[in-house]
Amino acid sequence: MTDAINNTISTTDWDQDTKLLPRLQLVDEKQDFTEQLPEYMNQWGLGEAGFKYNVVAVFGSQSTGKSTLLNGLFGTNFDVMNENQRSQTTKGIWVSRGRGMHVLVMDVEGTDGRERGEDQDFERKSALFSMATSEVIILNLWEHQVGLYQGANMGLLKTVFEVNLQLFQHSKTSKEKTLLFFVVRDHVGTTPLENLAKTLQSDLEKIWAGLSKPEGLEDCQIHDYFDFMYTGLPHKILMPEKFDEEVVHLRQRFTDPTNANFVFRPEYHKRIPADGYHVYASGIWDKVLTNKDLDLPTQQELLAQYRCDEIAQTAFAKFVEQLAPFKSPILEKGQIVDDLGTQMTSIRQEAIAAFDKQASRYHQAVYQKKRQEMLTKLNTQLNVCFVGQLKNLYKKAIAQFDNELKQKLKQPNYNFASVVTSALSKARAVFVDGAQVLVLADTDWSYQLDLEQLDEEFEKVSTKARADEFKKMSKALTKQVENDLAEPISLALNDPQPTTWSTILLAYKSTLERGFNSTAEELEESVVTLKRDAWIVLRKKVDEELADNMLLLKLRTKFEEKFRYDEQGLPRVWKPEDDIDTYFKAAREETLKLIPIFAKIDLGEDSVDVESTEEFDFQQSLTILTEAKQIDINNRFKRESDAFYLEAKRSVVATTAK
Ligand code: GDP
Ligand code: MG
Repeated sequence: MTDAINNTISTTDWDQDTKLLPRLQLVDEKQDFTEQLPEYMNQWGLGEAGFKYNVVAVFGSQSTGKSTLLNGLFGTNFDVMNENQRSQTTKGIWVSRGRGMHVLVMDVEGTDGRERGEDQDFERKSALFSMATSEVIILNLWEHQVGLYQGANMGLLKTVFEVNLQLFQHSKTSKEKTLLFFVVRDHVGTTPLENLAKTLQSDLEKIWAGLSKPEGLEDCQIHDYFDFMYTGLPHKILMPEKFDEEVVHLRQRFTDPTNANFVFRPEYHKRIPADGYHVYASGIWDKVLTNKDLDLPTQQELLAQYRCDEIAQTAFAKFVEQLAPFKSPILEKGQIVDDLGTQMTSIRQEAIAAFDKQASRYHQAVYQKKRQEMLTKLNTQLNVCFVGQLKNLYKKAIAQFDNELKQKLKQPNYNFASVVTSALSKARAVFVDGAQVLVLADTDWSYQLDLEQLDEEFEKVSTKARADEFKKMSKALTKQVENDLAEPISLALNDPQPTTWSTILLAYKSTLERGFNSTAEELEESVVTLKRDAWIVLRKKVDEELADNMLLLKLRTKFEEKFRYDEQGLPRVWKPEDDIDTYFKAAREETLKLIPIFAKIDLGEDSVDVESTEEFDFQQSLTILTEAKQIDINNRFKRESDAFYLEAKRSVVATTAK
C-alpha cells in the first residue's frame, strides 16, 4: 500500500502551539464513506465551529505533487508518493484540518484514469463530491500541460464543469460560486504567469462553450459559477528553498482575510454548519454513488430537515427532563407550583435557544418550519402542566371560598352579603392571579371557560350558604316572634276591645322591626318570607288563644264579669225583686258581640305587608272563625250561660226559703 513520507512538513515553520493533526480517509478504496467524520471534526476542534470553517479540495493528474503542495500549504500529512519506489498512494478521498487554521483540506487520490486508459468513474465521482462540498478547488498542473487543449487536464476540467452544471441545474439564479485556483507547478518563468493564465482562461471558455447545457441553462456563463485565480510555483526539486518560500507566501491567501487575494470569500461558503457536515457530505457521496439526481439546493434542504429534527430531538429530550419535576407534583399530588409560569417560560426558552443555536444555521425556510413544529410540541407538553395547575387552582379557590364563609359566618356580628362578597373576591383572585401568569406567550391558552365554570360553582356555594343563613335566621326570628307576641296576644285577647287587633298588629310590627337586622335586609327575597313566617307564628298564637275551650273560657269570663258582678265589681247577691232575666239577657248579648271581634282579624287603618303564596293566602288568614264555627260557639256559649241563669234563679229561691 503506502509509504507515507512526511518530508514536506519540515519545509515550513509552524507555530509552536499548532500541532500536526490526524488525517481521515473520508472515502476508502471500496468507495465507502467513513463513519468517523463527526469524531474527527470534534478532535480537530471544528464540531462547534458553525460556519466558521472553510473547505478546500485539490484536483489534478496523478503525481503532479498535489499532496506535497497541500502538506506544504496546510501542514497536513497526506501521503506523498515515494520517489524511489514510485508506488501508488492509497486511493480515495482524504481529509484533514489545516494546522492552526479552521480549514478542512481534501486530498483526492485516484488512479489516473486518462493516463492509464482506465475508466474515469472515480474521477467524476470525486469531482462531483468536491464541487458539492468545497469552496475552493485547487487545480494542480505542470507548466508544460498548459495549452495542451486536448490533454488530460482539459478532460478533467470538462468533467468539473459538467458536474457543476448538474449540481446547480435546479437553481437557475444561484449565487453560489466556486473558486478555481490554478497552481502551475514547475513554473520556469520564461513564460510569464499572465500569459499562462490567458491561455488557460481561453481554453476553459472553449470547453465551457462546447458543453451541452441542461435545459433552461443554455445561456449560462462560466463566470456565473466560477471565479478564477492563477499562480505558479517554482520547481520543488531544483529550487527547493524558493519553492518553500513561495508556498509560505501562498499560504497567506488561505489564512489572512486582509490579504487582497484571500481565497475564502464568504460567497463561496457552502453554508453547511460544521455540525451537519458529516450528514451533508455522506449524503452527497451516497447520491454520487447511486448516481441519483444530485442538486445542491435540494441537498441543503434535506440536510436542514434531517439536522433540524436531530437538534430538536436533543433539545426536546432535555426539555422533557427539565419539565418532569414540575409535572408529577401538579398532576399526581394536586399541588400548585409557585412560579410555574416563569419556570415554564424559561424551560421553553432554553429549549428554543438550544434549537436556534444550531438549527438557525440551516436552510431558513426549513429551520423556521421546524422551529414552529418544535414550539408546538413544547407547548403541547407545557399545556399538560397548565391544565393540571388550573385544575388545582380551581379546587383551591372553591375550598378557600367555602372555608372562609364557614369561618366568617361563625363569628358574631357579621354582614352576610359583605362576607360573601369579600370571600368571593379573594377566592376568585386565587384562581385568576394564579391562572394569569400561566398563560405563556405564543400560545392560544385560555382559562376563560374554567373561570366561567368556577363562577358557577361559587354561585352554587353561596346559594347554599344563603339558604343555610336564611334557615338560621328564620328559626331565630320565629322564636323571637313567639316570645315577643305570646304575652301581648294573650293579654289583648283576654280583654277583647274594638282595638284588640290593632294592639296585636302593633306588637307584631315592632317585633319585626327588632328582628330584622341589616343582614336580613340584604337577603331581600328572604325578608318577604321572613315576614310571612312571622305572621304565621302570630296566627298560630292567635289560634292557640282562640281554640274552642279557650274561646269559651274567654266568653264565660266576660259573661260572668257582666252577670255575676255589679258595676263596682262586687259579686251580686240576687234578691227576689231583681230582674234576673233582663240582667241575663244584657250580659249574654254583650258577650255574644265578642264573637265577631274574635272571628276576624281587623286590619282597620293598619296595613300589614304579607305576601300570599300558593299554600298561604293572607286574606284567608285573617279569618279566625268561620261562619259555622261562630254559630257553633254561639250555641255552645248559650248553653253554658243557661247554667248561670239557672244557678242565679236557684240562689234566689234558696235565700227566700231561709
Ligand atoms: P500527487 O500524486 O499529485 O499527490 O503527488 P505527490 O505529492 O505524491 O508527489 C508525487 C511526486 O512528485 C513525489 O515524488 C514528489 O516528491 C514529487 N514532487 C512534488 N512536488 C513537486 C514539484 O513541485 N515538482 C516536481 N518536479 N516534483 C514534485
Ligand atoms: Mg497525492
